[in-house]
This record gives sequence, structure tokens and C-alpha cells, in this order.
Amino acid sequence: MTPIPLLNLQEQYQALQPELEIALLRVARSQHCVLGPEVEQLESTLAEYCGARYALGVSSGTDALLMALMAVNIQPGDEVLVPTFSFFATAGAVARLGARPVFVDSLPGTMCMDVAHARGLITPRTKGIIPVHLYGQAMPMDEILQLSKAHGLLIIEDAAQAIGAGLMLGGKPVRVGGVGHIGCFSFYPTKNLGALGDAGLVTTNDEHLYKTLIKLRNHGMEPRYYHSMIGGNFRMDALQAAALNVKFPYLDGWHIARQRHAERYSALLKESGITSEQSQVHQVQHHIQEFKQGTSIFLPELIWKQTTASQHHIFHQYTICTPRRDELRKYLAERGIATEVYYPVPFHRQECFAYLQANNADYPVANFLADHVLSLPVYPELSVEEIERVVGTIVDFFHHSPHNQS
Ligand SMILES: *Cc1c(COP(=O)(O)O)cnc(C)c1O
Repeated sequence: MTPIPLLNLQEQYQALQPELEIALLRVARSQHCVLGPEVEQLESTLAEYCGARYALGVSSGTDALLMALMAVNIQPGDEVLVPTFSFFATAGAVARLGARPVFVDSLPGTMCMDVAHARGLITPRTKGIIPVHLYGQAMPMDEILQLSKAHGLLIIEDAAQAIGAGLMLGGKPVRVGGVGHIGCFSFYPTKNLGALGDAGLVTTNDEHLYKTLIKLRNHGMEPRYYHSMIGGNFRMDALQAAALNVKFPYLDGWHIARQRHAERYSALLKESGITSEQSQVHQVQHHIQEFKQGTSIFLPELIWKQTTASQHHIFHQYTICTPRRDELRKYLAERGIATEVYYPVPFHRQECFAYLQANNADYPVANFLADHVLSLPVYPELSVEEIERVVGTIVDFFHHSPHNQS
């Protein structure tokens, strides 16, 4: 049987090949290789799309986070709240500035940062918070804004996985990255909007921060060869911007396809009878027993269906929780179906953060997620038959060995 990959970038490239190659050749022939008109076009398109006054094309999502923290003046010894269950860059950027990433546990339903836990970790040294819109699902930014107001926290949104994800704020629809002080995006090729290499974006509504970010992007230089601050080379390549300008008009269509796939997965898995009663990971402790019996899986919580925001979740990943996760993963792989574990080790257990002496017992949910999450293929080009095959294979796995212990 033909394999089902986690992502099919070849297929996307082939569909856009003529347009992309014209744009790439245009840049090559112009020899305007770094920043320039392609990057400026992308910036104005994406500022509007994200609902931010300003957007700046940068070298990667990681650099976006680093320069955002530099722009809000995070200093050695400052504390910044980050979810312990995220991609490494979220915490790495904080630590690289000599500041202290303070790890926050996750919520079982959305798998995003537990804001109540974050509140309890605030000290006089806490300067900022990095909400991560994990897997493409918008965080409850109203809660983050309240926390920020009450404690004077700077908000750096890590929207690397969630470009275009919407939420309601004060009765109005907004998009991630346009809510906090600075929004950070990644165009790594596997993201929903992917370049042909590394690229990223920062957004802000604050003119002063915007001017600082422009300087930081180019070694803190203004005017030429005069440096009032220390920045870096965080500039975006014109080739990446050209590719992104070609792809952008397709983005909302891709989001819709991913959402349709996610709904189909959830419906088919529920129909099959292998999902837990509640079918969602509401209360981890409550479900441990069911988990141990090994017959149930939990579906991602579809908050976007419960809000008036049209795209609360853009399904960068469709992630289930399941017992015997590793066994299931192997079973699927042997039948040609690729899956991935995002992420197997939370920050509080990473070797490089041992110096922070985090207490493992403070992170029951993140530890649970690290052992049980599994992301299924959900890329736009996936067919209905392929989704049915993935679900059918998962159902076979549970039916063939329903009582094994994990
Ligand atoms: C991908 C990602 C980043 C980093 O982006 P790069 O462009 O790969 O540097 C940061 N945070 C999260 C949550 C991500 O998924």
C-alpha cells in the first residue's frame, strides 16, 4: 500500500511549481537577495492578515523569539513564564539572553499553557510570558491579557504553529500574534505556511517596539555603521519572501482542508467506539484508569467549534492522546502510516535546563502528555480514503490487542 507521510511537501510544490519558479527566478535575476520589495510585500500582506499594525520579515521563528525578547529588554536574571510542553525554541530564546525560563504546566484539554499555574509562579522578577498557540490552537488571550495587566508582564506570543488562528477578544474576532506586545511566527517548511528554507516574522502594534525591532534585525544599526544597541543578523532572504508571497493566497484554503480532516478524524474515531466516553482529555487523573486498560484514546478538544471565532484551531497538528502510544506508532509505521511525537521531553526534564532545578512533580499534565501524545497526518492534500485508512488501522490496533498493558 502507498505510504501516508506525515506531510507531503512535494505535492504542494508540484501544484504551485510554475508560479513559484517564476517568482524565484525573478528574485535570482534581480539579485536583490536580502530584504527588499519581496519582503516588504510579504510584511504588509501579513500585518493585515494577522491584524497587527506592523510586521517584519526575519530569519526564522527562533530568531523572531530572540529579537522579541531583546526588544522588550529582557535582561539576565529576569524571569519569563513559558509552557514546559512546547518546541525548544520557546525556552531556548529566554535562556540565551541569560534570563530564566520559568516552566508552566499544561492543560489537558487544549495541551496549551495552564494560565492558573502560571499565575502562581509570578515573582517580583517576572518580566514576561510567552503563550504558545500549540498545534495551531489559539490560547485564551483574554486570560493572558488579564495576567499581564495585573502584574505588568510583557506578552510575547509564540504563534509559530498558528498563523491565522482566530479568537474572540472583547466580542471582536482577532488573530494570534496581533494581541500581545510582539507576535512571533515561523515559516519553517513544515509549518502551515512554509518557505523553501528558514524564515520567520515578528508583529507588533507598538510603534516604538517596531522601530527597535527594525534596528535589532540589522545589528542595531541606524544610521549605517552607527550602533546604538547590539542586534544581530535577523534579516529575511528575498527568495523566502517570494515563495511565501506565492503561497499566501492558498493559506486559508489549506487551513480549511486541515480543519475538515480534523473533523473527519474525530467523527470516525468516535464512531469506531475506541475513544474515551468523554472523548476529550479533560481531566488527566480521572482518566488514568481508563488509559491503563488501554482501550481508549482521547481526541483533541475542538474549542474552535464552541466559540464564535471561525478558526480557533488551524490544525498545524491533529494530536490525540493514547495509551501504548509507542506501540501504536510502531504498528502504524509498519503499515506505511507516519506519525510523530510532539514533544517527548518537556523543558523541565531537558538536560540543558538541569541548572534550573525544576521539580518534576510540579508538571503532572505535561509529563502525561509527553508520554501519550501522537500527531497524525493532517496535511491539506490528504484524501478522504487516506484518513479512513489511518483510522481503520488505529481501530485494528486496538481490536487486535485490546487488553495489553502499556
Ligand atoms: C517551529 C517553532 C519555533 C521555531 O521556528 P523556526 O523557524 O524553526 O526557528 C518556535 N516555536 C514553536 C512553537 C515552533 O513550533
